[in-house]
Amino acid sequence: MADTKDRNPVHQCNKPYSISGDLGAVPPEGEQNPYVNALAQFDKTVEHLNLKSGVVDTLRYPKRELSVTFPVELANGDIRIFRGYRVHHSTVLGPTKGGIRYSPNVTLDEIRALAMLMSWKCALMNLPYGGAKGGVVVDPKALSRRELERLTRRYATEISLMLGPESDIPAPDMGTDSQVMAWIMDTYSMHKGYSVPAVTTGKPVEIGGSLGRTEATGRGVVNTIEQALKRMGMVPQRVSVAVQGFGNVGAVAASCCRELGMKVLAVSDSTGGILKEDGLDLDSLKIHKKESGQVSGFPGAENITNDELLTLKCDVLVVAAMENQITSRNADKIRATIIAEGANGPTTPEADEILNDRKVMTIPDILCNAGGVTVSYLEWVQDLQSFYWPLEQINLHLKNLITAAFNNVMACGESHRVPNRVAAQMLAIQRISDAIMIRGIYP
Ligand code: NAD
Repeated sequence: MADTKDRNPVHQCNKPYSISGDLGAVPPEGEQNPYVNALAQFDKTVEHLNLKSGVVDTLRYPKRELSVTFPVELANGDIRIFRGYRVHHSTVLGPTKGGIRYSPNVTLDEIRALAMLMSWKCALMNLPYGGAKGGVVVDPKALSRRELERLTRRYATEISLMLGPESDIPAPDMGTDSQVMAWIMDTYSMHKGYSVPAVTTGKPVEIGGSLGRTEATGRGVVNTIEQALKRMGMVPQRVSVAVQGFGNVGAVAASCCRELGMKVLAVSDSTGGILKEDGLDLDSLKIHKKESGQVSGFPGAENITNDELLTLKCDVLVVAAMENQITSRNADKIRATIIAEGANGPTTPEADEILNDRKVMTIPDILCNAGGVTVSYLEWVQDLQSFYWPLEQINLHLKNLITAAFNNVMACGESHRVPNRVAAQMLAIQRISDAIMIRGIYP
């Protein structure tokens, strides 16, 4: 058992790792700081592993971090300065992989946490990648399409020394989409002088994207829910589901749950939630959301708050919005039997303790939402070989890979008598640690 607490400067003093900029939000304190939470989860996991202390320390810190500040000319001729980041957490298992987030709330601590989670996620899924993440402090909805393209191309240029199909491959995350990946891929290709489709994933199919990538995360979430229901002897046709976040992940997860016969009784977005006890008509809801920009006000459904959605009585709660949604404030009020973490870091370590005591089954983020990076990997492989596969093959690979990972996590949890999150991180961290030891410490 490795004791890391004493050696850990971040434990003793969070300050050196909480850099705030005048161009970004100040990182939140304590339970709300995603990097503090990621480190707390890491510390809890390594207590169950017999790792060399130097390896533990290596994995606590990002391998490299780039902070960039750059100007963008707006449509009215004004020049505005933006701040962005790209963090590589680990490169031991291969090139780094991780999304790019556009949000006014992006902080370096958040990007560090998400890069670390990407290392664990890729290792858990046995993908040949390390973890990375990037972000720009910007509200993408406040920019025109042309302004967003200019910002994206400039940010891609600023971080291009870290990018490459063999070094670092971005994908979409909150606030970015396939079009943003197309602009990054095009910018990188222009600098090279030839097309490099494998430099991003989550691209449009027309330029080397994979079939099934857009839906992959939500589909993978539901693959894991299906396995969890099987283990608990629950029949999908008698299962009720509430979904927090009706974006890329949440909306697809809701539809896939419905396809399996589950009843989706509530969903929410950043403006609030809706509830219909006998089940929502998701096709009509998608049209309503497209037209009105929100789920609230959906005819025939009752408007509820986001807090109410999280504590609804239901069998499965899918959290597919953002970090820190289940905290010590509301964990004891959650009434779902299964929590499926479509989002990254939605549950704080304090909340984890409460949920574990209450025997709520959590499908942890690095397993539950790993469908996205898994199909990103399939996209990268297809781009590198310039040979593309049909959708059925993609979905089958996804189901097989995520089911295998699910079974590994359950087996590890049972044999070590640890919660699912600890089990998932144990498998991942052990794999990376083994790779560090086999490769050796350079020079
Ligand atoms: P998205 O921007 O498409 O959707 C996010 C949704 O959450 C939106 O509907 C938004 O209105 C809603 N939301 C925001 N704050 C909320 C709140 N407080 N309460 C309820 N709803 C709220 O983003 P996405 O791509 O679906 O990503 C969602 C989460 O899943 C993020 O944590 C992301 O890191 C994670 N994730 C995404 C992918 C992917 O492939 N897109 C892969 C792995 C993990």
